[in-house]
Amino acid sequence: MEPLQPARGTRDIIGDDQRRHGHVIGTARTSAALYGFDEWSTPIFEDTRVFARTLGDTSDVVTKEMYTFADRGGDSLTLRPENTAGICRALVTGGLTQSLPQKVFYAGPMFRYERPQKGRYRQFHQIGAELIGAPEPLADAEVIALGWDILGALGLAADVTLELNTLGDTPSRDAYRAALVAYFTERAADLSADSRDRLARNPLRILDSKDAGDRSLIAGAPTIAAYLTDAARGFYEAVQNNLARLGVPFIENPRIVRGLDYYSHTAFEVVSTKLGAQGTVMAGGRYDGLVAEMGGPPTPAVGWAAGVERLAMLLESAPAAPRAVAVIPLGEAVEGAALAVMQSLRRAGLRAEMAYRGNLKRRMERANRIGARAAVILGEDELARGVGAVKDLATGVQTDVPLDDIARVLAL
Ligand code: ATP
Ligand code: MG
Repeated sequence: MEPLQPARGTRDIIGDDQRRHGHVIGTARTSAALYGFDEWSTPIFEDTRVFARTLGDTSDVVTKEMYTFADRGGDSLTLRPENTAGICRALVTGGLTQSLPQKVFYAGPMFRYERPQKGRYRQFHQIGAELIGAPEPLADAEVIALGWDILGALGLAADVTLELNTLGDTPSRDAYRAALVAYFTERAADLSADSRDRLARNPLRILDSKDAGDRSLIAGAPTIAAYLTDAARGFYEAVQNNLARLGVPFIENPRIVRGLDYYSHTAFEVVSTKLGAQGTVMAGGRYDGLVAEMGGPPTPAVGWAAGVERLAMLLESAPAAPRAVAVIPLGEAVEGAALAVMQSLRRAGLRAEMAYRGNLKRRMERANRIGARAAVILGEDELARGVGAVKDLATGVQTDVPLDDIARVLAL
C-alpha cells in the first residue's frame, strides 16, 4: 500500500521543529503573563457566521481562504482562519462585556486555504494578544510593547522592524478612501484584476497588494496623513509617544493596512527581511467595531497576531532538549533498584531514561546516542554495597555514589 501523506499545506512538527515551535509559544506565554494577559482557548471551529459577519465580505480570508463545511447536522461550520473573531464571540457569549477591560492571550492552530509555500501553510499556528475595552492610545502602545518584548525575548529584536500606521477614524478614512478611488480609477487599466475588483469593493486593500505592477502604482498613491481629522492625528501621536515611553522602536509606514475590514486607528506590522515574500511575522491594530458586530455593545479593542512558524524559522537555533541521565541495570536482579533510582531522578527534576534491553555495551551505546550527560550503572555488586556507579559521559570519570544520594549529586 502506498504510504499516506499529510494533507497539502499541513506538516508534522517533530524534533527540532517542535522545540522551536514550543519555545516560541512558551516565551510568548511568559511575556503575556508579565503584562497581565490571561490565556483563553476558543474552539477551533465556529459557526460560519462568526467569521463571515465580521471579517468583511471583501477580505481575502472570507472570499478565498476559509475551510467551510456543513456538518452531519447540516450546520455551516468554519475552521477558524484567525482567532480575534472567536475571542470576541467568547467575550459576548460569556457576558464579559460587563467586566472590561479583558486582556487575552491565545496560541493555537489556524486554517486557511492558501497556496502553500515556505512560511505559508494551510494549517499554521498563531500566538496573539487582545486588549478589549480600552479606548486609550496607551492600550495600543502596551499591546504593541508586549509583542515587541516577545520578539526581544526570542532574540529577534535585531532581525525585525516594527512598522506603524494609522487608518484614522471613520471621517478620516472616508475622505482618504475617496482620494484613493480617484487616484486608482485614473490608473485602473494598469491595476491587476484583483485590485480592480478591490477598487469597487474595498479600495484601501489595494495598498496591501503583492502584485509587482500594483506596487509601483501604490508607491505614488496619496497617504492618509493629509486626510486625518485632528482627533485621529492626536490619537496617532499619542500612540507614538507612548511607544517611545515604553522603549519600543518603530518606523512609520503609511502603506500598512490590515487585510480584514474591521480596523481603525492603529495598524502595524513587524517584518523581517530574512523570510523572503513571507516576511511579516506579526500584524495587528485597533478594531473598535468588532465586538458590536458580534452582537455585543460597542467595545473598543486592540490586538495582534503572530505566525509561530515564521518566528520559529527566524530562531538562530532550536533550544536544546534537556540532556538525560541513562540508568543502566546489569541483569534482572537489579532492575527494581534501577527503576527506583530513575524515579528519584525524575522527582528531582532530571530527565532520566533506561534502555529496555541489551548488555552493558549496547546500553552505553544507547546512552551516547541519546546524548546522555551521565550514566548510572547498577550491578549486583554495587547493589550489595548500596551504591550506583555514576559515570560522567563527558569526562569518563566514574564514582560510586550511595543510591539515596544519586539524584542529589546529579542535580548539582
Ligand atoms: P499575509 O499577507 O502573509 O498573507 P495576512 O495579512 O494574511 O498575512 P494575518 O491575518 O495578519 O496575515 O495573520 C497574522 C500573521 O499570521 C501573519 O503576519 C503571519 O505571520 C501569520 N500567517 C498568516 N497566514 C499564514 C499562513 N498561511 N501560514 C503561516 N503563517 C501565516
Ligand atoms: Mg494572508
